[in-house]
Amino acid sequence: MNKVGGCKSCRFCGGSLFDFVDLGMSPLCESFVPEDRLNIAERFYPLAAFVCGSCFLVQLEEYVAPEEIFSEYAYFSGFSDAWLKHAERYVEMIAEKLCLGRASKVVEIGSNDGYLLQYFVKKGISVLGVEPAINVAAAARQRGVETLTRFFGAGVARELAGAGTKADLIVANNVMAQVPELNSFVEGIGILLEPDGVCTVEFPHLLRTILGNQFDQIYHEHFSYFSALTVRKIFEAHGLRIFDIEELWTHGGSLRLYACRADSAKYPTQSSVSRIIQQEREAGLDRVDAYARFAHQVRDTKRKILTFLIEAKNAGKSIAGYGAPGKGNTLLNYCGVRTDFIDYTVDRNPYKQGMYLPGTRIPIYAPDKIAATRPDYVMILPWNLREEIAGQLGYVRDWGAKFVVPIPEVTVF
Ligand SMILES: [Zn+2]
Repeated sequence: MNKVGGCKSCRFCGGSLFDFVDLGMSPLCESFVPEDRLNIAERFYPLAAFVCGSCFLVQLEEYVAPEEIFSEYAYFSGFSDAWLKHAERYVEMIAEKLCLGRASKVVEIGSNDGYLLQYFVKKGISVLGVEPAINVAAAARQRGVETLTRFFGAGVARELAGAGTKADLIVANNVMAQVPELNSFVEGIGILLEPDGVCTVEFPHLLRTILGNQFDQIYHEHFSYFSALTVRKIFEAHGLRIFDIEELWTHGGSLRLYACRADSAKYPTQSSVSRIIQQEREAGLDRVDAYARFAHQVRDTKRKILTFLIEAKNAGKSIAGYGAPGKGNTLLNYCGVRTDFIDYTVDRNPYKQGMYLPGTRIPIYAPDKIAATRPDYVMILPWNLREEIAGQLGYVRDWGAKFVVPIPEVTVF
């Protein structure tokens, strides 16, 4: 396994970095191209991930400043029915588990358009969202979700705590990956928590990413990729204890970690913590050499995707995409797939309709384009939502079309 030269070191522990996977050059996956910029160059950045030889944190270099990525962001969580249901169920579960009521305070970091906090608001629980993207935060405020437009870290946590805001619950779902200053972020959680407060964090599970060939989880907006064993180290370094872990279906397999202050005795550590860390050890996630296999799996997956596309086009078939998620852009750019294979894609998010995918310049339409053009195949780019999407698009069977998912392996159904 190749040790990376130069001055690169782990963003958590400062350890040496080793190659994990190199996906070539790619544009920012949420930087959709409007029609009037089609003749203008896009910026491409290296998309290479490394693993730390000491703490096994998988990470990208900070190629792009977070301000450039997140100040205006096209990702609105509120456009997926499955996401909304996931959020609502979480709120029901956690409010009961922690006995949250009108005197409680919930803070969500990376609160997006308020899709999750709105369910706490309905229960009369006081909330604060922290969300750096100005356009997305504005949508949250329209929903009645109080939102602070800042990047969260120890500094913001100290300001809030100094002004009397402490949290009974901190929610950090799918945001820790987007934080370059990881230590400041986790330190901030400790500062903001009430003595017996709880923090839950969700992230795509690195174990599932590796076992499921999910290289399209890697993009510039995600600086870090987590296993439970690494997150436990990071939280312990900042005086926090992981006391429970749940496995979730989201993003192709995620973890939800429950953490409290190390000095809180309220929540005993459950056996789920050692069980999941043991699974990770058995898969080799505590040995740097085991990470080297992933790059081979990724190249093999690319060849299978291209084989399917070439054979379909040779047979005279037409292919449309469904969805314009970040992961789709990593996949299409890495595989070199443009309108030579996929005529167009569709997305329910009106913000993306009429734009073009970054790098590949595949046009994005509203979903009714599919019924108008009757493609032979519909490739579902957010393959993690395949059941939901295939259900919504059941009518394509009327003209004999089939669905395709590219990950974990090309599957036609
Ligand atoms: Zn490290």
